[in-house]
Amino acid sequence: APNRETHGFQAEVKQLLQLMIHSMYSNKEVFLRELVSNASDALDTLRFQAVADDSLFEKDPDLAIWIEVDADNRTVSIADNGIGMNRDEVIDRIGTIAKSGTRAFLDSLSGDQKKDAHLIGQFGVGFYSSFIVADRVTVTTRKAGEQTGIRWESDGGGEYTLEELARPGRGTEVTLHLREGEDEFLEPVRLRHLIERYSDHIAFPIKMRTEGDADEEKAGDWEQVNRGAPLWARPKSDIDEDEYKAFYKHVGHDFDDPLTWTHNKVEGSQEYTSLLYIPKRAPFDMFDPQRQSHGVKLYVQRVFIMDDAEQLMPRYLRFVRGIIDSNDLPLNVSRELLQSNRVIDRIRAGSVKKLLGLLEDMAEKRPEDYAAFWSEFGPVLKEGVVEDGDNREVIAKLIRASSTHDDDPAQKVSLSDYVARMQPGQEKIYYHTAESLAAAKNSPHLEVFRKKGIEVLLLTDRVDEWVMAHLTEFEGKAFQSVAKGALDLGEAETDEEKAEQEKLENESRDLLERLKAALGETVGEVRVTHRLTDSPACLVADEAGLSAHLERILKEAGQ
Ligand code: ADP
Ligand code: MG
Repeated sequence: APNRETHGFQAEVKQLLQLMIHSMYSNKEVFLRELVSNASDALDTLRFQAVADDSLFEKDPDLAIWIEVDADNRTVSIADNGIGMNRDEVIDRIGTIAKSGTRAFLDSLSGDQKKDAHLIGQFGVGFYSSFIVADRVTVTTRKAGEQTGIRWESDGGGEYTLEELARPGRGTEVTLHLREGEDEFLEPVRLRHLIERYSDHIAFPIKMRTEGDADEEKAGDWEQVNRGAPLWARPKSDIDEDEYKAFYKHVGHDFDDPLTWTHNKVEGSQEYTSLLYIPKRAPFDMFDPQRQSHGVKLYVQRVFIMDDAEQLMPRYLRFVRGIIDSNDLPLNVSRELLQSNRVIDRIRAGSVKKLLGLLEDMAEKRPEDYAAFWSEFGPVLKEGVVEDGDNREVIAKLIRASSTHDDDPAQKVSLSDYVARMQPGQEKIYYHTAESLAAAKNSPHLEVFRKKGIEVLLLTDRVDEWVMAHLTEFEGKAFQSVAKGALDLGEAETDEEKAEQEKLENESRDLLERLKAALGETVGEVRVTHRLTDSPACLVADEAGLSAHLERILKEAGQ
């Protein structure tokens, strides 16, 4: 064809495709779920954009997804009359992997297929999962409101071709030319079964051709094969676990099941429904500030409004996925309008309460799940101590840490555990921050605590310094860094000890003077300590000053 162009995939795309084909093979039917999910997103986007400009419907307002098999040509196609893509968007969205950190992600793969299959899931398989079952994929698409259509085709090697084409209908059709041996997907019954299982919750009709046997008259007509109602709008009692999980995979763009979820219908002065999920695993780019996250989607009266509405969730809950459907916002609500909106503020406050409650409940009743949650998202949740003053106490209860109680590298000790184990007369919650558990455990600062049997929390996450600067007390007990200021612990308990300490201090006066002279400006003060038992000396930060650990972090950050 005269206008056909050949493009090379971004290097990462090719590598990811190869990996996906190999590691996902045992779950190859995911392609259908992923393509239907994309079609549904495209319909959502069109319906939303048409709120402002209904000419985008182009006199074809009945939004749907069509799945068709061509047994002779061995193809399956998934079509929608959604928003579609123009040429640049096709290049950008299916010729590129827009996620930063993809290179690092690929480099981190082990080559062990079982393990990698899991990691690929974290990456989000998406459109490329087509190549698990197809050796050639053709996409034709036209963007709503634009004139020219475009055809994209690739065998998943290193290249794809682009060609303009006339396409009267808007939307997108993805045609899979099945690989040898994948004929099971030419069976309409098999496809219907997969839709029932994985895509029943899709809120638009999914249509397939009727089979001839029952009613010759109707054979070949389109019929709807899914329920076609938004899952969250149904009564909780009517929804089973598998349906919740299937919906999560669509809304969360995740391959794994979620860890847990909370589904709530709020009625009264304000009406909204929320269905919020906590994933099992953090996406590989959780801490990437540029990450395009799939957070919480906002719907208004069942109409999709926007992805990742950050006003709906505080930063420290950015791992939460799901939907919030409000009855009180206008359909034409914009991101700007959400900035300072009382309806949104109340929805957010209510949702945060629900999520923290869900976590509290999990911590209490499913400690193993909670441990899994904490190891993935603990450092993120802790940011809430700083960010969310209103819920600081609840978040503090959810914190888990390592401690000298068991020196366990898994963070398992709660602040309540700690307080329950405090020694008689112990007033404070002692903690030590360090870069690693090894560094924390071996710190000379701990010597006197170990000797006296006093537990110290060992905090080794990057955020801990910052968090502890905002966490001043728990259950009425103040926090005290073991590396800061004067400690009352070395205090003599008997007159004899007291005399001994005084004697030592007097004898040391000369030594202190000399040390002070030698160290000069580098230290603020040199004093005799009773906090050490084995080490000859240690550095202590000023009570009001930065700790040594934080100073190091700031230095690294170039401050
Ligand atoms: P994700 O859905 O997680 O964004 P995918 O790999 O599934 O990732 O899809 C990549 C992108 O390609 C989508 O974000 C979307 O912009 C575009 N896309 C895929 N399928 C369609 C479709 N049927 N209609 C319009 N755009 C689509
Ligand atoms: Mg997708």
